[in-house]
Amino acid sequence: MKTRAAVLYKMEHPTPYAESQPLVVEEVELAGPGPGEVLVEIAGAGLCHSDLSVIDGSRPRVMPMVLGHEASGIVREVGPGVHDLAPGDHVVFSFVPVCGRCLPCATGRPALCENGARANIAGTLLDGSRHFRNAAGQELHHHLGVSAFSQFTVAAQESLVKIDPTVPLEIAALFGCAVMTGVGAVMNTARVEPGAGVAVFGLGGVGLSAVLGAQAAGAYPIVAVDILEAKLTLARELGATHTVNAAREDPVAAVKELTGGGAPYAFESVGNEQVLIQAYQATRRGGTTVTIGLPHPSRQFAVPAVSLVAEERTVKGSYMGSAVPRRDIPRFIALYQAGRLPVDRLLTRTIRLEEINPAFDALARGEAVRQVIRFE
Ligand SMILES: [Zn+2]
Ligand SMILES: [Zn+2]
Repeated sequence: MKTRAAVLYKMEHPTPYAESQPLVVEEVELAGPGPGEVLVEIAGAGLCHSDLSVIDGSRPRVMPMVLGHEASGIVREVGPGVHDLAPGDHVVFSFVPVCGRCLPCATGRPALCENGARANIAGTLLDGSRHFRNAAGQELHHHLGVSAFSQFTVAAQESLVKIDPTVPLEIAALFGCAVMTGVGAVMNTARVEPGAGVAVFGLGGVGLSAVLGAQAAGAYPIVAVDILEAKLTLARELGATHTVNAAREDPVAAVKELTGGGAPYAFESVGNEQVLIQAYQATRRGGTTVTIGLPHPSRQFAVPAVSLVAEERTVKGSYMGSAVPRRDIPRFIALYQAGRLPVDRLLTRTIRLEEINPAFDALARGEAVRQVIRFE
């Protein structure tokens, strides 16, 4: 079948993207679902910093690629062997397909699924297949098994989680990356307990989701750190009890003062190793620093090694919020429906696929938290 998709042919385009047009919106050919695969009509596709990191080359991926990894949609067709999904079902995508058979999956850590990681690095679905071709017949890679910047996509059933159909689909999309990653970092990776202090460095979609997660977990105080006043204002509306503008004051000293000597938990969602060091320094003795952002592979992170021992500090990586997608996406959606995770506040605007390049400029400039593509 034919579908309209935004294709990235090469990385490291100059900004502004409204002029350099890194994403080419064109009609491409999509081969239907094979065994264990599902054809999904995308309903909402969020623009995430991780897409931006592929476009600017700081998170290199195999090219060319149909980007987009945070999405919701409606099942239109299922391949042989798909028994628990049917046409009409509403789904959210997990950007790591969960094979269910490898050791990380078997030990409850599917965000680290080995078969999923292998497919994601190769730019294929879980079984190694690729389904997109451009008009010239060139094969296009899948982005994290999702490729949501396309009106239709094919995904492995292991990439899909069925959701309550009453959830608005442009909101449901956010659970696939921002919410699963940010709330998961608080609830799964750190396991923040009620009354514990939290500092969140960087207030994009993931960082603001961590603020929401901290609020839902009963953390106090919740200190939000960023360099943009508009983000700090939004963080206060979402439950941050204090905010620090790191462009105006030393965030380490400010967080230490606000948390009575250092935060028990600090989260870094910028993907910058200097900010990660600040987050580490802002924790108290015995504190835990959770790193969520994705720095360029060449970057190193240096802290005094003795502080890990003599001060019992912990640094934890959190990929996809250490989530179990089939457990956590419905669980976080239930919290949203109960009014305890107002993730709809993260949605800045909905856009059309053709607006994708300038929309990435807005994301890069920090003017938008989440912009979601709606296909009509
Ligand atoms: Zn993302
Ligand atoms: Zn696995």
